[in-house]
Amino acid sequence: MRTLGTLAEAAAFRKSAPSPVVLVPTMGALHQGHAALVRAARQHAGQHGTVVVSVFVNPTQFGPNEDFSRYPRTLDADLEICRTHGTDAVFAPNVSEMYPPGESTFVEETQLSRGLCGAVRPGHFRGVCTVVAKLLLITRPDAAIFGEKDYQQLAVIRRMTRDLFLGIEIIGHPTVREADGLAMSSRNRYLSAGERASATGFAAALQSAQAANETSAQKIIAVASEAIARDTGCAPEYLAIVDEETLQPLEHIDRPAVLAAAVQIGNTRLIDNVRLMPPHGKV
Ligand code: AMP
Repeated sequence: MRTLGTLAEAAAFRKSAPSPVVLVPTMGALHQGHAALVRAARQHAGQHGTVVVSVFVNPTQFGPNEDFSRYPRTLDADLEICRTHGTDAVFAPNVSEMYPPGESTFVEETQLSRGLCGAVRPGHFRGVCTVVAKLLLITRPDAAIFGEKDYQQLAVIRRMTRDLFLGIEIIGHPTVREADGLAMSSRNRYLSAGERASATGFAAALQSAQAANETSAQKIIAVASEAIARDTGCAPEYLAIVDEETLQPLEHIDRPAVLAAAVQIGNTRLIDNVRLMPPHGKV
């Protein structure tokens, strides 16, 4: 497995990389959710294709009061996980490589990024789109894999890729969960034991709302928000039911939808989502 730090190294690697090339963009602090994406990339690339994982904590997607400086950085352990799960190269640039002094260009998606996390994290998706566009242009993959855990991000990246004619297949991967249902996240390592129990309650609340077999969005949201209040002691930052493609709010589950939520547990912000399918049942 190669470790690439500069654009020049990435370009040289790309020149002789066998197709198809599949990219898994990450911010590091890798866990089994990321590992599942890497295995899916390996499967998609086949034995003879190329799997590239990027590890970059992107400053432009963090707000001024968010956790950029304390975000966990565990490159040695990340390299080990990448190696174990079949990665050919890890691209781990530093900030000045990705954002050279004097640069003034950003990429902004203006519809899907408005609601949900976009409404409470101004500039977040502009930072995400900018860094992902850069990573796609540097590594020029045939396909890139993103987790459904960050559902809005996946939708925004799909739209950006389509709108900019990048010609790269965007593959969504189902959310990988701990045995108790909590969605795996690099931020889970911030949680104290008590907070970890609340985080489990958050995931369980969404799952109980999913299982409610309701078609009224208002009723499902009421079930989820009561369960979140009871089991975490927190009010959600947002809790919404949206169309799975347009991310527009729905009143009735008359088409495939997503129940998406964010909650602040202590100093840790967690997001999660579940699918809702008409007329009944789970996906
Ligand atoms: P991050 O390092 O948190 O930016 O995540 C990198 C990629 O891994 C994104 O596409 C995430 O959606 C995905 N990811 C993170 N956690 C999970 C999870 N629990 N299940 C599936 N994908 C995940």
